[in-house]
Amino acid sequence: MARKPEISFEFFPPKTDAGRDKLLAQTAPALAALAPGFFSVTYGAGGSTRDRTFDTVTALADLGLTVAPHLSFGGDDGATIGDLLERYKARGIDRIVALRGDIPSGNGAGATIVYANELVTFIRERTGDHFHIEVAAYPEIHPQALSYESDIRYLRGKFDAGADSGITQYFYSPEAYFYFLDRCAAAGIEAPIVPGIMPITNYQNLARFSRNCGAEIPRWICQRIEGFGDDQESIRQFGIEVVTQLCGTLIDSGAPGLHFYTMNQVEPTRQICENLGLKGC
Ligand code: FAD
Repeated sequence: MARKPEISFEFFPPKTDAGRDKLLAQTAPALAALAPGFFSVTYGAGGSTRDRTFDTVTALADLGLTVAPHLSFGGDDGATIGDLLERYKARGIDRIVALRGDIPSGNGAGATIVYANELVTFIRERTGDHFHIEVAAYPEIHPQALSYESDIRYLRGKFDAGADSGITQYFYSPEAYFYFLDRCAAAGIEAPIVPGIMPITNYQNLARFSRNCGAEIPRWICQRIEGFGDDQESIRQFGIEVVTQLCGTLIDSGAPGLHFYTMNQVEPTRQICENLGLKGC
């Protein structure tokens, strides 16, 4: 593997002071040692973490790190989102992940849904070229998509609206990503689409989450992990091995980068990057 792709790390905004302290004092510095291109911080469904996301983003930026907040309209109006963009701009943030966002359960049927392409248009209208805008992409297709083709058409719409690059939902089948890139190219999408990588930590949670977000864990991986029973150490080692192999295949095939869903943990992301020789690149 000669080429070293850009890596990036995703955090969620911690709920407690202890979680915030750990993220800022331990997790972020440990992962910063791997020289990522940027960190990103998620945004709760319906705007539920608006303040905590802003606080986490600016605290990480104060450590000298490059940070990209995730953003969606949630239930907010243009004035609120416009103000948030201005506050990020004033703090020197120039990268953003623009999303429709998850729709919170119990969301009123009448609530306005703002699709990601509309948010991208809004950001460009309000802030011009200030932000590098990332959008979400789904190699195994978004669970609410009408069809494979329509999902790619809407992805194209996000780039037409002014997005610069994409980050995918996680997947464990590289073929799904390669096929998806081919279909994107056929649809005229030229922007880089970086694979999202989910290290395997808590298998039960991952299996549940995967069912909801439409990401598939291949049967052979499930079988292997279930075969380990309660042997957490074997599951940990197997997870690192499988995800290292996946990343190696993606890099060898020219993936433009790797975006790790860290779940606010240094390991196993650090170990996987080290296995790939990505440390300190
Ligand atoms: P969109 O691109 O708007 O698409 C949503 C659905 O509607 C798709 O099925 C699409 O086919 C369809 N569609 C798209 N545009 C239109 C249109 N104009 N008209 C009609 N239909 C359309 N969720 C969070 O809540 N917070 C986060 O911080 C967060 N971060 C994420 C980061 C990444 C990299 C990824 C891949 C996902 C993330 N998610 C996050 C999950 C994401 O919010 C959900 O998958 C959400 O359901 C869709 O968001 P989107 O931006 O992809 O939506």
